[in-house]
Amino acid sequence: MSRIPTKDCPICGKPASEAARPFCSTRCANVDLNRWLGGDYVLPGTEPADPEEIVEHIEQITKH
Ligand SMILES: [Zn+2]
Repeated sequence: MSRIPTKDCPICGKPASEAARPFCSTRCANVDLNRWLGGDYVLPGTEPADPEEIVEHIEQITKH
């Protein structure tokens, strides 16, 4: 039984997870979603910065 090959997360480059494909996590999925919704995802008070920072920000918003 072969697994479906997973692509790397387009946001951070980590291996995608089955739960959040094609992303590695829901955090990266949210990053991508925000990019689409807002074009440029600019955080108030921060520079438009790199995905890592965006992920951290979303993690704070969506922390469980
Ligand atoms: Zn990722």
